[in-house]
Formats: sequence, C-alpha cells, structure tokens
Amino acid sequence: MEPYELTATEIIALYKKRELSVKEVLESVLNRIKSIEDKIGSFLFIVPKNELLTQAETIQKKIDKGKPLGHLEGIPIAIKDNISTEGIRTSCGSRILENYIPTFDATVVERIKKAGVIIIGKTNMDEFALGSSTENSAFKVTKNPWDLTRVPGGSSGGSAAAIAADMSILALGSDTGGSIRQPASFCGVVGMKTSYGRVSRYGLVAYGSSLDQIGPLTKSVDDAALLMNVICGYDPKDSTSIDIETPDYLEFINDLDLKGKTIGVPKEYFAQGIDPEVKSIVMSGIRTFEDMGIVAEEISLPHTEYSVPAYYIIACSELSSNLARFDGVRYGYRAKGSSNIIEMYKETRTNGFGPEAKRRIMLGTYSLSAGYYDQYYNKALKVRTLIREDFLKAFKKYDVIIHPVSPMPAFKIGEKIADPLTMYLTDIYSVTANLAGLPAISIPCGFTKDGLPVGMQITGRPFQEEVVLRFARAFEQARSDLKKKPPI
Ligand code: GLN
Repeated sequence: MEPYELTATEIIALYKKRELSVKEVLESVLNRIKSIEDKIGSFLFIVPKNELLTQAETIQKKIDKGKPLGHLEGIPIAIKDNISTEGIRTSCGSRILENYIPTFDATVVERIKKAGVIIIGKTNMDEFALGSSTENSAFKVTKNPWDLTRVPGGSSGGSAAAIAADMSILALGSDTGGSIRQPASFCGVVGMKTSYGRVSRYGLVAYGSSLDQIGPLTKSVDDAALLMNVICGYDPKDSTSIDIETPDYLEFINDLDLKGKTIGVPKEYFAQGIDPEVKSIVMSGIRTFEDMGIVAEEISLPHTEYSVPAYYIIACSELSSNLARFDGVRYGYRAKGSSNIIEMYKETRTNGFGPEAKRRIMLGTYSLSAGYYDQYYNKALKVRTLIREDFLKAFKKYDVIIHPVSPMPAFKIGEKIADPLTMYLTDIYSVTANLAGLPAISIPCGFTKDGLPVGMQITGRPFQEEVVLRFARAFEQARSDLKKKPPI
C-alpha cells in the first residue's frame, strides 16, 4: 500500500512506530497529485515541495527525538479556497479575488498550523461557494474521481475529489446548504457539518453568514473526529461562535454506547423525486442499524417542502450583503480605465463576478428591498423557525435523523448548469441542517449499479456532534465492505 492511500489515523500510528517518515508521506501525496491532478482538477494552488519538506523535517526531528506527537501532526491537508491563508492566494474560485493574498489566517488555519498539520494546497470550489457541482468556479471544472464525466458535487468539490482520489489525507470544506456533505456523498468520502457556532467562521469568506460552517472531509470517521478536535471550539474573534466546551471527539465516540438509541426516518426525504437506487441504498443503510438492535421509525418533518425556497431567499439575501464589499476598492480586482467611481464599481463587479454570483446578488437584493422584505425575507425567516421546530420536536423522541444527503448520485458535467432552478432543487435534503443549525455528517452508504457512491446523512441534536460521529463510526465498522477506491 502506498502512503497516500492511508488514513490520518493509520499514518500517525506508523509515525509513532517509526515505520513511516513525514517526508515519505508528503512525497507520496505529491507524486499522487502529479500523476492524476491533470485528470481531476482538485487544486487551485499547491504549496512548493521544498517548503513542504522543510516543515516535514521539523516534525520528523521531533519524532526522532521521541517527543510526544500531536494527533494529526505531520499529516497533509488541503483547504478550500474560501478559507483565509496568510500569504497564500485565497480566490474563492472567483475572478474578483484572483490575485488576493490575505494578510491573516482564518482561526481554523491558525489552529491547524499550531497542531502541526501540513497545508499542501488550496482547492477548487464554486465561486463564493455558490453551487452544487463546482462548475461555477471561474477557473476550472473538477471531475468526479469515480466517473470523470460527472461532477464531484459542490461547492467543496475540489476538497472532496482530492480526498476520494487520495491526493490529500485530510481536507477542509465549508457548508452553507450542503457544500461539505453533498460532495462527500458524490465522491464517497466522509464530510461533517457542525452545529452552527461550533467552528469559528473568522477568516471564512462569508456566503450566508447565519448558515456557514467550516468542517472536515476525510477518508474515515475517526479522521473527521480528530480534525474536529483541532478546529472546533470557541473563538472570541467570531461573535457567532458559541462558548461551550468541546469534548474530545475521538475518545467520546470510542465510549459511547448506542444501546437504546433511536433513529427517526423522515418520510418526506424518501418521497417523490428521489432516485430509486438512492432510496434503496439508504434504506438498507438504516437496516444495518436495525440489525444492531437500534430502533428506526418513520417520522414526518412537515415543512420540508418549503426548505429550498426558504434557504435560497435567506442565503441569497445574506450573500448580496456580504458580496457588497467586493467593489474594487478594498480587495482584489479593480477594473481599469473608469472615469469615475460609480463606473469603476460597475466595471469591477461586471467583470469580476460570474453569472451565478450576479444572479444571486439580484435575487438577494430584491428580497431585501423595501416593499418585498416582508413578503420574502421575513416570510423565509418564519419558515426557517418552523423547519427548526420540526427537527426539535423529532429530537424529543429520536437521537438522530437519517436520510439521503442528495436525491441523486453524482450527475453529469453540464447536465444541470444551464437550469439554475433544477440545480437548486437538488439541495432539498441538505439545506435543512443549515436552516436549523444542526450537526450532520455524510458517510458512504453504498454504490449504484453504475458504481457511483451514495451518501447517508446522520443529523443530530444541536451540539451533539459526538452522537452523530458515534453512529457514523458504528456504521463504518459494520459495513467495511464499502471501503473501495475509485478506479482512477
Ligand atoms: N448548493 C447550495 C447553494 O448553492 C449550498 C452551497 C453551500 O453549502 N455553500 O447555495
């Protein structure tokens, strides 16, 4: 087995036994990138090899001296390009930030560096995280490693494809309405969105500020737990970060007993519009839990049908306000040759933003405008409360809720991009966790006849990430037959 194929947990064990060096892992990963990145297109930037090897050397010295090693020290990570990295371009997949080099690290990046995790590059994404396929990147289209004619999902498609194709050991994505979980589902990897406020958003370029969370994309549940140990926790720099204790996730999920726990299976998430193969794969996933003696019962989340419209009104409203700062004055690209400031704003934004960003700025500006605010934005907020109440009511009786992440497996490149509404509708199952602020994971659950991975979402009570992880891990252990690599 090549080092690039291993999980972080496996690599750390080998570091400790001195059976593998940090340099060997980095070289293995970099060679893997060299041999297949042209086909996949996960990265927008790769850190030069000599810089990576210098970092590897420092950590190796520590290992050689027998000093205690951090849980993820010396492990390569790829970071979505909307997470601020000091001195490394952070483009958000947009022309408007094509040459933007931040002067500061996001809090998660600061924590990752402190933990000795090695940043190897920045990954491709839909422009400003707007999309479900990574086709909205201004720079390139990332391909799904399981089928190069299909999308990897989005918006964190670069990170998910990098993990699926073994071009990184760990990755970070961001999730506003499914952007970690849906690409995880399409690429057959683990992806976790935490409860709103669990991970600092400081340094994450904002899309929908009341929905966004940064989270891990990994090859295993244990790796996700370890990465969460690094990135979770209160941050005074983010006023929406919650000041509560972060448990040691790995230890917790080792201990947690699932006996007597219950699963709610929302019927609205298996209703019309779902691909029959996805339905039967996730149903069989639920049966795996039933075989462990866990009770699963059908429930109803009655406001599900309003989730997509409510989400898109809220997300676009917040987006239109967040993107106002890109005006050619403060960050990134500025149009040349304008004769006055208004013209400069117009030219900059016309040339700098892609079509999806423009569409959503218009949608959001409209729904926030005087006269329409009550009709759209305020109404959507009310619907959001009803959706959250649906979940909280269900959580009085059930420990977790399980359903497919997406109604379909990875679709073809070009299949939906010309029809935005069809694309938006694919988010129906994933946006509710963000609207309700809940922790949710996507784990590989099975494969279609065509060999495409299908993810199962496990959603938990607010701030009960450990319960979600425990369920995910039990499933992963029970279904080791699902551990497959894409044919690339
Ligand atoms: N597909 C959803 C959207 O386009 C979610 C994106 C995300 O989570 N960043 O808004």
